[in-house]
Amino acid sequence: MKSTHSGSRRKKIILFYSLAVVLPGIFLGYLAYRGIRNDQALREKESRRKLELNSQTFFAAIDSSLVQFMIEQTDDTIPSSSKQDNPFLLASLVKDSTGFIKLIRHKLLYVPDEMLASKPEQLSQTGHDEGLRLEFREQRFPEALRFYQNKLLKSNEPVEKIFALVASARLYLKMNQPEKAKLVYEQIRTDYLECLLNGQIPVGLMAGLEIMKINQSLGEKDEMRANSLQFLKLLRQPSCEYDKNQFDLFYQSSKEIIPQKDPVIDSLFAELDIERARTDYLIRLINRPDLMAMNGNNHINLGKDGISCIPIYSNELVAVYLSWEKSNGVRASMVIDFPAYLKSSSEKLIQKPDPNSSVNVKIEDNNGRLIFPRVIQEETGYLTFPFPDNLPQYKLLLSENQPGFITTLLKAGSGIYFYIFLLIALLMVLGFVFTIYTLNEELRLNKLKSEFISNVSHELKSPLTSIRMMTEMLTHNRVQTEERKSAYYSAMLEESERLSHLIDNILDFSGMDDDRKKYDFIDLDLNELLLKFIESTRERLPEPGFDIRYSRSDRVPVIRADKNALLQVFYNLVDNAIKFSGTSRQIDISLISKDDELLLCVKDYGIGISGKDQEKIFDRFYRGDEPQRMGIRGSGIGLTIVKKIIEAHKGRLTLESKPGEGSTFMVSIPLSGVNNRQ
Ligand code: ADP
Repeated sequence: MKSTHSGSRRKKIILFYSLAVVLPGIFLGYLAYRGIRNDQALREKESRRKLELNSQTFFAAIDSSLVQFMIEQTDDTIPSSSKQDNPFLLASLVKDSTGFIKLIRHKLLYVPDEMLASKPEQLSQTGHDEGLRLEFREQRFPEALRFYQNKLLKSNEPVEKIFALVASARLYLKMNQPEKAKLVYEQIRTDYLECLLNGQIPVGLMAGLEIMKINQSLGEKDEMRANSLQFLKLLRQPSCEYDKNQFDLFYQSSKEIIPQKDPVIDSLFAELDIERARTDYLIRLINRPDLMAMNGNNHINLGKDGISCIPIYSNELVAVYLSWEKSNGVRASMVIDFPAYLKSSSEKLIQKPDPNSSVNVKIEDNNGRLIFPRVIQEETGYLTFPFPDNLPQYKLLLSENQPGFITTLLKAGSGIYFYIFLLIALLMVLGFVFTIYTLNEELRLNKLKSEFISNVSHELKSPLTSIRMMTEMLTHNRVQTEERKSAYYSAMLEESERLSHLIDNILDFSGMDDDRKKYDFIDLDLNELLLKFIESTRERLPEPGFDIRYSRSDRVPVIRADKNALLQVFYNLVDNAIKFSGTSRQIDISLISKDDELLLCVKDYGIGISGKDQEKIFDRFYRGDEPQRMGIRGSGIGLTIVKKIIEAHKGRLTLESKPGEGSTFMVSIPLSGVNNRQ
């Protein structure tokens, strides 16, 4: 019945708590959540704007860097030898007003005839007539060889020397001395790598090819491989300019001679094929750049310098074609390998919009291949910005590095809604904990109160019952002897005294509980009061043999105190000592006078108090576990009253106890305490 009642009360309180705290909390939480979302949306918008600005600055930086590069490269005041050979510069050329194209720098494998810088140098045939006669007509090889070696010693002209060397090597071969021929070719390859024979045959390649042929005929496999690699690398990065026929000739011959199925050699051939297609494309482009523009590529002027920029996006090449009409009617043009340019310049260009590196940058081609990454911390929310029309169709991907969670929260302003949210959640949790705590406390007190009522009723009923029984016996003259009668009377007196003390306790308690209790402080001799109290207690002791010892200091000062209240303190402490004495029959009371206080100790040797109970026995209605188990009666308000009275006297109540060994309650009352107040 009781538990159903407290259960429904609990439910009611939780319901009220939900209505009063949880619902408004949820509403406020929702508002805060909306705030956080709005805040987040604002930040995202701001970040998008920032990235957009970054992309614009980045594209502008590309434009201005291209313009600057073009101006530097075509500046006639800077000698071309001191201009850096940039890996991304595929070709740089000028076209005069007559339409003549001059290549200044390039990475072509071969050069169209009309653009070749060197023209065939004519060898004076007369000087070699004798050699040719000895070698070809009369077939007198040793004499012919001597003739050329003689020439070699005498001549200072590289053209003459090359001719003589080539003829010597050829004669060694004819004389079946391949080792010697190889040595001569090696000398040609080393010393005249950048020279052309008859102004058109690249000597280095020719010598290389002859060496490979000798390697092949002598079965020198390892040497053949090394020479093949050297030859292909030279073909890939020519050290002098020659035309397409020469290239094709050496390319075809090398394909026939060099054994394939070697991964390194195969990859060199593959690279060469790509470069060949690129060279063809570049040559077409150099001759007819307008074709690019007609193919739909945009022709955009960069800046005020009148430099036009055409994006080139073909299978062979991704590049930009820059072109600039200079004041003297000369048109300078340039082809820039765009991926290579981005690889080498992006890092520098990014510094402009984003010096603090708070943005992750990626550049992808239109197939989604990564060309350049600069990722400080991988993020998912990349924004894509297509490259502008004057550049190849690449994409710039930017994402902002979001600061850490804590940094965001600490950032002024931006975390305010989150804090509110947190605060509401905290308040709700605290409110809930507090409600549950108060509820439990309330229910605990209620339980204690009910127990108190039942205990007190019992306490009241038992002395009343015995008084009634004894009165009945006396009234009906059932008690025979005078001696018995007198025992009955004193028992009745004792029981009624018990009743009176109990009622005093209850009345005092209710007065103290709501602070109605008034004290009447007078000058009091505690020693005298105690002596009388102990005397009367000895008389009313329930059983004989109980020893109450009293000791005191020689001189006990008079203090200001409430007489009845202190009697109540004595009664409650001594009554407890008697009740909880167990098998012991001794109680020690002492009154000790100290400098500034009076100390009253009530010591018993009874059941003692457990550590857990020591903390609670001064709480109202609390009764120890052990007394309840042993069936010792009580109300649970005695010590609460003692404590309140002592506090009203500005004193202290302390306890020392060990279960099974007894307890000592110590009351100290300051001598100055209430004197000042009264
Ligand atoms: P009551 O004695 O009526 O139960 P009190 O407030 O006087 O109530 O005491 C509270 C509890 O303190 C007791 O129930 C008992 O457990 C413990 N107690 C008090 N005095 C003693 C004592 N002298 N020895 C052992 N336990 C004591």
